[in-house]
Amino acid sequence: MRRQAMSLVTDLIPDGAFHGVASRQSMKESILHHLRYTMVNLPQQATPRDWWLALSLAIRDRITDDMSATQIAHNRDNVRRVYYLSMEYLMGRMLINNAHNIGVYDAAKQAIEELGLDWEQVCDEEMDMGLGNGGLGRLAACFLDSLATLDLPAIGYGIYYEFGLFKQEFLHGRQVEHPDTWIKYGTPWDIIRPEYSQTIQYYGRVETVYDNAGNSRPVWLDTRSVMGVPFDIPVAGYGTKTVNFLRLWSSHSTEDFDLEEFNKGDYVEAVRSKAMGETISKVLYPNDQNANGKELRLVQQYFFVACSLADILRRFEKMNSDWTTLPEKAAIQLNDTHPAIAIVELTRILLDDKHLSWDTTWDIVTRTFAYTNHTLLPEALEKWSVGLFEKVLPRHLQLIYEINHRFMGKVVQHWPGRDDICRALSIIEEGDHKMIRMAHLAVIASHKVNGVAELHSQLLKSELFPYFDQFYPGKFTNKTNGITPRRWLLGCNPGLVQLFEQYGIDRDWPKNLERLRKLESFMDDEAFLDAFMTVKHQNKVHLAKIIKKECGIDVDPFALFDVQIKRLHEYKRQHLTLLNILTLYHRLLNGSDIDMVPRVFIFGAKAAPGYALAKNIIYAINRVANVINNDPRTKGKLKVIFLPNYRVTLASHIIPAADLSEQISTAGKEASGTGNMKLALNGAVTIGTMDGANVEILEEVGPDNIFIFGLNVDQVRALDSQGYHPYQYYQQDEELKGALDWLCSGHFTPNDPHAFDDIRHSLLAGGDPYKVMADYRAYMDCQQQVSDAYQDKTRWARMAVLNTARMGKFSSDRTIQEYADEIWQLPAHPV
Ligand SMILES: *Cc1c(COP(=O)(O)O)cnc(C)c1O
Repeated sequence: MRRQAMSLVTDLIPDGAFHGVASRQSMKESILHHLRYTMVNLPQQATPRDWWLALSLAIRDRITDDMSATQIAHNRDNVRRVYYLSMEYLMGRMLINNAHNIGVYDAAKQAIEELGLDWEQVCDEEMDMGLGNGGLGRLAACFLDSLATLDLPAIGYGIYYEFGLFKQEFLHGRQVEHPDTWIKYGTPWDIIRPEYSQTIQYYGRVETVYDNAGNSRPVWLDTRSVMGVPFDIPVAGYGTKTVNFLRLWSSHSTEDFDLEEFNKGDYVEAVRSKAMGETISKVLYPNDQNANGKELRLVQQYFFVACSLADILRRFEKMNSDWTTLPEKAAIQLNDTHPAIAIVELTRILLDDKHLSWDTTWDIVTRTFAYTNHTLLPEALEKWSVGLFEKVLPRHLQLIYEINHRFMGKVVQHWPGRDDICRALSIIEEGDHKMIRMAHLAVIASHKVNGVAELHSQLLKSELFPYFDQFYPGKFTNKTNGITPRRWLLGCNPGLVQLFEQYGIDRDWPKNLERLRKLESFMDDEAFLDAFMTVKHQNKVHLAKIIKKECGIDVDPFALFDVQIKRLHEYKRQHLTLLNILTLYHRLLNGSDIDMVPRVFIFGAKAAPGYALAKNIIYAINRVANVINNDPRTKGKLKVIFLPNYRVTLASHIIPAADLSEQISTAGKEASGTGNMKLALNGAVTIGTMDGANVEILEEVGPDNIFIFGLNVDQVRALDSQGYHPYQYYQQDEELKGALDWLCSGHFTPNDPHAFDDIRHSLLAGGDPYKVMADYRAYMDCQQQVSDAYQDKTRWARMAVLNTARMGKFSSDRTIQEYADEIWQLPAHPV
């Protein structure tokens, strides 16, 4: 197995501290060494993939010594750690990020070039590690980078999915999904740790047994078992020796899995059914903002949570013996409710296995956990059917009932006679089909609950959890999301980095993003503004090449690049952009906007495979794009590009080339957004609604440097309560009616004139739940202001620069420092 083979490779490398002395010469030697002894190949016949792997291993060698040193120091000092539990990590590629963080980027690039190779071509060999759906998974990846950079002792836990988020292709404009085989030939970035494998139990039943004294105690028996094997991904901090790691669990059958069949002599059947255990970590569920309630998903959650907790407690027990001190050594952060079963698992272990009292157990649990909420969308709030839960985790169900019973007792004391409040707060949702509300469990068991932007955290208190907020004053807080400047500027925008160098921006800006404020002093320096926009232009030329290669379409890099990249969802309103495109196209054809500012609309988005309307919107954009891009009457003023397979690596090419960033969700629906921050940091100006972190971006850049339009949360609520009639907007706005009718006329799908009936229905008879019709006119007007601003080159350049200069707040270092100070009480521990 290649993965194990590569773990041994470090032993072949001569000792030596590479830090600081990482010259390109030693890098070159190291690459050649790996090429010869690991790839077993020679330069004259090595493939680009051989070179990439040799380079990656050369860089890995320069990380692993510090990784060992970090772990030894953390263990020796018995430090407090944060454990970040997340079902998803959207890491992307690791090579460039690691090279930058350990300070060998230039040496590595020069070494590769001196070997006669093309740097970009070599880097392009790496597959994305796409073990996440979107924002939530990418946030976890940014957080790991910041935790290490801030020297915070931290371990991320998750699942080692064999197949990450599906690969997207378009077939005649429709999304087709293919499995993502990222791990097929192994990755240089993981280290298998069979010695830390865990075996966990699930299914079975609970029996009450009595001891000699007649005391009863529940026993969980007749369980099935499965083994988790950990793979560690090193996470090197930027400009520090701290190297934390991400521990991902791969599921395997235990050897005795089908002992019975084995004993019956059915060897082949026993081995075949062994494969059952391997399915748990097989594939990431591709749903974003949607809970699907499948048994395998529940099993995945419990599998990774039980393995992780066992690992955490094993580490605790090595150095400590008093369970009441667990919260002093371990802070566990739940990234959404996906890992919330950890609450019940810790309760079970302390109560059933360690025989602590209920009160002691519950005190330890509530001092250990904190929970991050990521959404207010009802369809995304996890609920498990009681029946399913009982089948998979019967003992855990009993404990949830016990937790709920005790909690309900306190609610009754607080609000005597208020059955309505009891029902509203209960973990169990009563009804024909009893459900477990995982968010309620997470709120009750956590000492802090946070939202991910100011507005979202406010709505969490006022709309989702008003009674919880009254019951637990001070428990609800805000931690506005952030992004790592290492990946989302240093790594993806070398042209801009070089400009910072030329203009004397303090070189520590990647770990001190506020340093970019100094750019504001060049607002009247025309040469600087020119240089900044020249970098933008070069990035657009680069993206134009990618567009040509991927889509076969020529785009003009002088046109305004209007970018909407994010998961496809009705609440994100890609179909509002589509109505804008149809309107502009119509204006071009009827001659009412002959001086239109040339625009290239660029989309990137995956739809959940089961989300029919989202897939239909992708199809609609692609069909409209096909007609527009082939219509000579547009004179090249309008192009529509939908780049397939949006992922971290594609984002890193699109973002530096964007002029305009579309952040147009219905107010109150986007918890934070982080794509908005990445784009603004790279000098794209935002057009957006008063939603999520857009509100805080407005605060930072000022109203002159952002385009805000549309209904705010209060206006959306008012529309809902007074009765919203999308037909009125349709009837009263000729352009809107024209655009929607045209889309659904069959003009864009002659062979299937009803292809977009569902979109039309959702916007009209279906009640337009996301207020597309209500916001259309304000959006169109605002887009006109964008075009006007873009024609004034100096004005636009200033706006772009000020966006880059004023994004300091949105470094994930700031976010993580707030978590460390206000939730985890976690001091830095430099190595
Ligand atoms: C940042 C990012 C996201 C999140 O984008 P939003 O616009 O905040 O929804 C999703 N996918 C990828 C690949 C990202 O890099």
